[in-house]
Amino acid sequence: MKQSIPYGKQNIQQDDIDAVVQALTSDYLTQGPKVAEFETAFANYVGSKYAVAVNNATAGLHLAVLALDLQPGDRVITTPITFAASANCVRYAGAEVWFADIDRETYTLSLESTKELIESKPKGFFKGIIPVDFAGLPVNLELFRELANKHNLWIIEDACHAPGGYFIDSKNEKQFCGNGVYADIGVFSFHPVKHIACGEGGMLTTNSEELYKKLNLLRTHGITKDHMTENHGAWYYEMQTLGFNYRLTDIQSALGITQLAKNENGVRRRNEIASNYKKAFSGKLKFQNLPENLYNAHHLFVVEVQNRKALYEYLKEENIYAQIHYIPVHTLPYYKQIGYEGANLQNAEDYYSKCISLPMYPSLTSDEQIYVIEKVLIFLNG
Ligand SMILES: *Cc1c(COP(=O)(O)O)cnc(C)c1O
Repeated sequence: MKQSIPYGKQNIQQDDIDAVVQALTSDYLTQGPKVAEFETAFANYVGSKYAVAVNNATAGLHLAVLALDLQPGDRVITTPITFAASANCVRYAGAEVWFADIDRETYTLSLESTKELIESKPKGFFKGIIPVDFAGLPVNLELFRELANKHNLWIIEDACHAPGGYFIDSKNEKQFCGNGVYADIGVFSFHPVKHIACGEGGMLTTNSEELYKKLNLLRTHGITKDHMTENHGAWYYEMQTLGFNYRLTDIQSALGITQLAKNENGVRRRNEIASNYKKAFSGKLKFQNLPENLYNAHHLFVVEVQNRKALYEYLKEENIYAQIHYIPVHTLPYYKQIGYEGANLQNAEDYYSKCISLPMYPSLTSDEQIYVIEKVLIFLNG
């Protein structure tokens, strides 16, 4: 292959370009009609009541913990196998991150490990849980909700990997990632390496009107014209809380709308690619074990190998840019410095020593995938 093959890649077509050009020549570059249109389309897509567009998912996670009233000194549980932002949002609020271990088969936050951690502490010790639909695999939030209710915890679903994924709950209903049925708030990212590319961007979803209002207020400086205590005239507004400027632009929203429309096909293609990999590597490599009754959105396709570094370097020589997802968050220097040095998260660390993400994106051609598979098999036969 002359052209290099990355592990993930955005898919920008003529309709996306046209939508952006149209937004650029409209009256609004930001805070115009495209933002609301994107929010409505997104809420419809995942099945939530409300959606709030933000400038990236990290900002979205920050607003989510603030809307749920996370205070300095509070404690929140998340998974060590995620992008750092899932944990960092807790730190932004001055609260403590506690890591429970992952399930060794699904690579997502272990319900058992989370339960053990909660039950090892006094009542009221934790405030919330942030499960991550890692690699696109929807976490069974019905089970997490049961646990959360028992201990009075909120749930933020980090669904950055999983727009379009769903699990089937005990009532045999499809529960789309971020639909707000079991989690209080869902968070999505529109970084180009994710399913929907806006350059930068994110979306918060919820079914709670109260949280929706708080998120909206916090996104725009805490400034509003609703429910004001005074009114000096048409110009008058109030800053009612200390908020931020975490807005998404109209230009990005226009792109988000056309990108969202492609997501269903994109996820279908991702599943095709995954099944090709599974067929080719069955019995030769370990990969993410899917529970029954769910539809994986396949942001990533992760395999496990003993000599991971050698495979990574071999593929790079062959122009295939695999990636590692993720370095366990508790082992990052910042987290080590604040006291996670001795954290014993064996599943996460064992997983990290073997994991490697192979190319996975809708525009990966059949020839390119055959080439990737061929090279991996050559390496394995060594
Ligand atoms: C990408 C990602 C984020 C952060 O998204 P940004 O939009 O880049 O801020 C958060 N959590 C997970 C799991 C992610 O993959």
